[in-house]
Amino acid sequence: MAIANQQTDAQRREEQRVALEKIRAGLATRVRILVAPDACPVCRACEGAYEFGDVPELPLEGCSRPGGCNAVYAPVLDLYGP
Ligand SMILES: [Zn+2]
Repeated sequence: MAIANQQTDAQRREEQRVALEKIRAGLATRVRILVAPDACPVCRACEGAYEFGDVPELPLEGCSRPGGCNAVYAPVLDLYGP
């Protein structure tokens, strides 16, 4: 199956940088890295919640997924958590 929307690493990096800025500007107290079920081991190892100062840049360095890294940032909303 062909991937319709092929992005370059530079486009991906810019997109994720913008996404992280939006999350940081919102209600989130931390940021989570989410990976797809077909993610490579590097990405899966990085999945989890981070402080804003500690979060690695996406796409993750060393990602070996064919077609490029598809990890994304997601907000952690402790405010609404238990
Ligand atoms: Zn990866």
